[in-house]
Amino acid sequence: MNPTATQSREQTISALQQGERFLLVTHEHPDGDALGSLLSMSLILRALGKDVVSFIAADDLPLSYEYDWLDVSDIVSEIPRDADERVVVFLDCGNTERSPLVDAAAAPEHLLNIDHHHDNTRFGSIDYVLEDASSTAEIVWDLANGLGVALTPEIAEALYLGLITDTGRFMYPNATPRSHAMATELLAVGIDGNLIFRRVYENLPEAKLHLFARALTVAERYLDGRLTLSVLSNDDFEQCGAPASYTEGIVDFLRAVDGTRVAALIRETTDESGQSYRVSMRSSDGEIDVSMIARAGGGGGHPAAAGFKSELGRDDLIALLCEQISEQS
Ligand code: AMP
Ligand code: MN
Ligand code: MN
Repeated sequence: MNPTATQSREQTISALQQGERFLLVTHEHPDGDALGSLLSMSLILRALGKDVVSFIAADDLPLSYEYDWLDVSDIVSEIPRDADERVVVFLDCGNTERSPLVDAAAAPEHLLNIDHHHDNTRFGSIDYVLEDASSTAEIVWDLANGLGVALTPEIAEALYLGLITDTGRFMYPNATPRSHAMATELLAVGIDGNLIFRRVYENLPEAKLHLFARALTVAERYLDGRLTLSVLSNDDFEQCGAPASYTEGIVDFLRAVDGTRVAALIRETTDESGQSYRVSMRSSDGEIDVSMIARAGGGGGHPAAAGFKSELGRDDLIALLCEQISEQS
């Protein structure tokens, strides 16, 4: 770790030790790392005797089937009245726009920003952002050690969830020897790793199978195959009986197609702000930085996995992706 990160580690540990009341939050539409780091941090702070409230927006509950085994009984969907007196801890959240908390807790005095997105906007009073960490869970695991909190099976399960999802089951280049060492330590606590894999990656609802079939059928290649993409419309979701969360994993399938440098899933979405598209991108060989493309579209993410939401039409979006990829390759 670099010297700045080491200094922040001490500051972060001391802020966690000194705080009495905490409010934990993560990004909207929480993924495995968001949930794993939120739940593990909550358990770790409680082990230290702290008063902890964890927040997930009502829109994001109940959790999708992959995560429905997690104990979210303590999670609140209303921001506590004393939010501005609590130490607010953002986990796995690269910018405040990705959190519904931003309007409510306008400027908490103590805002701890614990994350691994390289384009994190450093919005905290303490920014503990480790770009080399595979997952926010990996950072929380290290903080637990630093705080002297022994890993319980519940903590280890939550951390393992964050680790396996953000490393693509240890397949992505972010799975370092350190990530594997973390897995070793978590499994040694006695958790059932295979059971967690099955819960997250198997038990597919049949509607998800139909949605995958649809996405693979409509897959198109651009730029001599360097870009492989699928577009899913509101009608597709309706006809398959699938919610938006069932798209998880489609883009990884597209990425695996021979010759692909960038895979994208473009899905239509309709919410309070009207009709728009969400674009989810993955880089196959790491040569093309998809977070640059995401930023050009108004979003962000990691060099190998990024996304954005756009009001552009389908064809304009595809043109934007082609243009951005051509500029980089
Ligand atoms: P996804 O394709 O939704 O799995 O997201 C891949 C990565 O892109 C994650 O690390 C997200 O944090 C990031 N990401 C996705 N959408 C956005 C967005 N609208 N703004 C910023 N980052 C995003
Ligand atoms: Mn995440
Ligand atoms: Mn993450």
